[in-house]
Amino acid sequence: MEQQSIQVPGYGAIMICGSPFIDGRFRSAQSDETLVTINPATGQPIASIAACGAADVDAAVASARKAFEDGRWSRRSPKDRKLVLQRFADLLDEHREELALLETLEVGKPISDTRSVDIPKAAYMIRWYAEAIDKQYGDVAPTGPTALALTTREPLGVVAAIIPWNFPLYLAAYKLGPALATGNSVILKPAEQSSLTALRAAELAVEAGLPEGVFNVVTGNGLTAGRALGLHMDVDCIAFTGSARTAKVFLRYAGESNMKKVQLEAGGKSPNIVMPDATDLDEIARQAAWGVFYNAGQVCSAGSRLLVHRNVHDELLGKIADVTAEMKIGDPLDEATQIGALIDEAQLRRVLGYIEQGKLEGAELVAGGNRTLLSSGGYFVEPTIFAGVSNQMAIARDEIFGPVLSVIGFDSADEAISIANDSDFALGAAVWTSSIDTAHSVSALLHAGLVWVNNYDASDLTVPWGGFKQTGTGRDKSLEAMNEYTGSKTVWIARR
Ligand code: ADP
Repeated sequence: MEQQSIQVPGYGAIMICGSPFIDGRFRSAQSDETLVTINPATGQPIASIAACGAADVDAAVASARKAFEDGRWSRRSPKDRKLVLQRFADLLDEHREELALLETLEVGKPISDTRSVDIPKAAYMIRWYAEAIDKQYGDVAPTGPTALALTTREPLGVVAAIIPWNFPLYLAAYKLGPALATGNSVILKPAEQSSLTALRAAELAVEAGLPEGVFNVVTGNGLTAGRALGLHMDVDCIAFTGSARTAKVFLRYAGESNMKKVQLEAGGKSPNIVMPDATDLDEIARQAAWGVFYNAGQVCSAGSRLLVHRNVHDELLGKIADVTAEMKIGDPLDEATQIGALIDEAQLRRVLGYIEQGKLEGAELVAGGNRTLLSSGGYFVEPTIFAGVSNQMAIARDEIFGPVLSVIGFDSADEAISIANDSDFALGAAVWTSSIDTAHSVSALLHAGLVWVNNYDASDLTVPWGGFKQTGTGRDKSLEAMNEYTGSKTVWIARR
């Protein structure tokens, strides 16, 4: 497939190639199928991308396997891998503007976010793992004088990273950073809606000195390219972020093929609890509103269930409605825009369907509830708040992945904890209180991978990311993520 030129208003043209990136360069796909990426803010096509099939996946896996086995990366010294990955991170930073524009065009998120959050954080993540890798030590086991037992962490081999569209490059970096730093070869399959930054990143990685075949990108549909990776007998690990429905399919693929390791982050329905003694309702309102409406609600850790003690319920709800009314929804290329479009028409229909269901089930619509900016042709939905929600309603149980907040009242801490934990998911949870006792007792009882006290969704790379129940298995971020892409190996040396 040749280069395509994407015209960006106010910027000029960006050249892209929509072919799979295999063995260090773009290759013509063996599949004839293509998919068209759409700008969610206009509904207009952006580029034509190869919809890779099983033969393309085979080629990518063969390239990754060869690179792994001959040691061109897997047996380089950690110090050398560090230098290459640092250079890769530098190149991501140097190309920040171009990558930010591509991501904004493809996924409809505000340019102010892609420029200042998504792309810089992706580069930072790669750099962080690069810096970590030559500070990892193995163990000498206390075996006694007759043996020397050395336990080290070994790379798994060929890792397939399957990524969603809500933070394309950033979530790719979640997997790429630790997987590459520890010496694996990676095949990245971006979501069908958002291939462009993955393809560009692979080119930049090679420019940084990453050997051919160590980082391949296979674009295309989940049911073909994703499935072929999931079932492949020569893929050692699947690193997945996406929906719980697809996460379960990957567990099945692993069972039906080679029992590959599967690491899954599959979203949440995170509770944000406000106790009656919480102070600074203005700040709580700000964080509660942005905690669910950021990225148009398309965030796995969105605080989509707000549990509020009835003593402060009405006052806080009014403040949240005020914060929400001020949010600037609009053209993602406009620097003033704070909320962009939903990813595609299917997601728009799904979100509007949940809003209708919320009304039918008897929740009270306090704000929003409609599609907006129709003349743009884009898929925009107003930030929407429902009050009077019961935890049994669909809007309280399902991960909507859109700008919909469900507000649930409660009367006691026990009731709040029981509602919070009554979910299929367990990613994030928050509690706001001025009592140190309540902070400790409630956070101890919340079943979630991340519990925030007096803040919502604060985190950085130093702490693990993931959860329990149908949120998935394993952890992204922090040094813990390196364990996802390595296994322990013991060498037992007899002493005479
Ligand atoms: P979302 O609902 O956020 O789009 P999905 O779980 O559908 O999340 O998609 C996340 C990733 O999983 C995407 O890269 C997609 O192509 C891939 N995918 C979706 N369905 C399948 C499937 N049945 N088999 C393999 N991969 C899939």
